[in-house]
Amino acid sequence: MKKLLAITVCKLGRFVGKLIGKGSSMPGKFALKICPDILRRVELPEHIIAVTGSNGKTSTVEMIAAILRADGKTVVYNEEGSNQIEGVTTLVLTHATLGGKVRADVLLIESDERYAAHTFQFFHPTEFVVTNLYRDQLTRNGHPEWVYDSILPALHPETELLLNADDPLSSCFAQGREKVKWFGLDPCSISTDAPTGVYHDGAFCPLCHAPMEYDYVHYNHIGAYRCTKCGHKKPAAAYAVTAGDLENARITIDGKVQITLAFRSIYNIYNILAAYAACRECGVSGETAAAVLSNYLLKNGRMQTFRLGARHGTLLTSKHENSIAYDTNLRYIAASERPCTVLVIVDAISRKYYTGETSWLWDIDFDLLNRDHVEKVILCGKYVNDLALRFDYTGIPPERIVCYDAVAQAAGCRPEEILGTDLYLCLRQKALVWGAEDQFVSAQGLDDLQCAWGCFKGFLAAADSASVPVYALLDNEEIGSGTMQGAAGTFLVDWLDRICAALGRDRLPAIANSFLVSADNAHAVHPNHPEYHDAGHRPVMNGGVVIKHGVHYACGGAACAVFTALCQRAGTPVQHFANRSDLPGGGTLGLIASSHVSVHTVDVGLPQLAMHSCFETAGAKDTDYLIQAMTAFYGASFREEGGRFLLD
Ligand SMILES: [Zn+2]
Repeated sequence: MKKLLAITVCKLGRFVGKLIGKGSSMPGKFALKICPDILRRVELPEHIIAVTGSNGKTSTVEMIAAILRADGKTVVYNEEGSNQIEGVTTLVLTHATLGGKVRADVLLIESDERYAAHTFQFFHPTEFVVTNLYRDQLTRNGHPEWVYDSILPALHPETELLLNADDPLSSCFAQGREKVKWFGLDPCSISTDAPTGVYHDGAFCPLCHAPMEYDYVHYNHIGAYRCTKCGHKKPAAAYAVTAGDLENARITIDGKVQITLAFRSIYNIYNILAAYAACRECGVSGETAAAVLSNYLLKNGRMQTFRLGARHGTLLTSKHENSIAYDTNLRYIAASERPCTVLVIVDAISRKYYTGETSWLWDIDFDLLNRDHVEKVILCGKYVNDLALRFDYTGIPPERIVCYDAVAQAAGCRPEEILGTDLYLCLRQKALVWGAEDQFVSAQGLDDLQCAWGCFKGFLAAADSASVPVYALLDNEEIGSGTMQGAAGTFLVDWLDRICAALGRDRLPAIANSFLVSADNAHAVHPNHPEYHDAGHRPVMNGGVVIKHGVHYACGGAACAVFTALCQRAGTPVQHFANRSDLPGGGTLGLIASSHVSVHTVDVGLPQLAMHSCFETAGAKDTDYLIQAMTAFYGASFREEGGRFLLD
């Protein structure tokens, strides 16, 4: 019953999802909620082919599907690339009868390498292709050996593995297994004697960690490796490219099957070979496979040609955070030998998750562009400055590098149209709310945006009162306030004059009946260095609004009492700060402002750590406390009468 319900819900979900243009993982997610082991309960086709690895998954799967269909087989596969268990469940159930039988000869699955074990816990592929494993998405995948360990539990003993003989790491999956077939590439015109690239991940044996030697290499560390100690080496391939001729776009498999390449890239050769091997294992003839693969243009190809006016262009897309994908494209440019301009664009790192991590740019061998036929290299995109720094460390003559102006890019104009700028350094790290109870907030510039924001919210939320509410946001406090827009300028007093003039009131009596709250963040006591705080005054994060005392602050006893009374009305906790008397400490704008406008003033703030660092930390609750306090403040009426200051 659960099975029928899960299949029905998935089919309906997929139908509705297609109508509203939603992704393909949600219906499977619902089905798994209803029946977690649904994938064990369905009747699957005779052949189940899975493909995983760092690069080439999507292309290989697309080519396998094309060959199998040309051979008259019905194939279902995840064309939309949802390659985790939810997407696979959607795929399987939408192609199943209500009784749970999948209507196809072959189920073909592109599997995310990290989640393969999760996907294949209820059924296992008959053939499992691993294309390669190398540095890819550092922030998500860590290092390739870790990804290796994640894939390992996905490999069922009865599954036949189809492995890349030329990859020293993913070839280790064959350890202790009998059902393994290899694909590989014999030495060819582009092979080198030693590994290429700016780093060498194949320097040591992944099994025994002894130094590795290479007879030849096709790219980076992919080639004929030989461990100097344990015997781990490139095995003989059942499916081998025996003649690879990139210049003439031709390869020969097993000495007889000829394939013409639509794209002359080494990647293309490996993807073709993996697809060829998988299809041969499913009983397709070499000739049928070769006919489909010859001049095969990928739907999701990473290489496209175009024309722009009189110019010819080639678009080479590389997977970000994957230096080997970049190297392959750069090698293609280097080998082309046609005079060209290369435009390098890095505008976003991932569409799926947030990261500003750019260390992978340093893994890319940009020196491959140091060729005479590469006349100019133009750098652009949001990460143009990261690229510019990386290119500073290449041997490419600086006069050949053009750095597309980041400001002009952002403004959408030509660099020469920019006549003046105000530029600020901004942190790429996004603001975070964190802690066991989400009690902390970390962000750039909490000092003093936290108070600026809290006071403004209070200003907007306050009830009417007999006093005129004024919210003044003054700049340049960190450099002494002595600017046009700072507290030491005439900005505040000028505006008070204007407000009084507009209301037909005299400024001086109005000021005598006023109260000023100066809000600027305070230092919370640091758990590792409590000694820097006065023993009797130790504000803590989430402990409430801090009233600041001392010679650098504007607060006297009367003002402290008024503000404390306001907080009591609002139910806001109050803490006190006084600088340790034998240590120098900072001041803030309250004293400066009140020296221009003589008014009762209290200096307050919210406690925080790492003040003035690029990523400050404060209490998440404290913002609310300030809003409460300032709502009460702006809703109150102040007046001086008979030498007493009254708060209504
Ligand atoms: Zn070894």
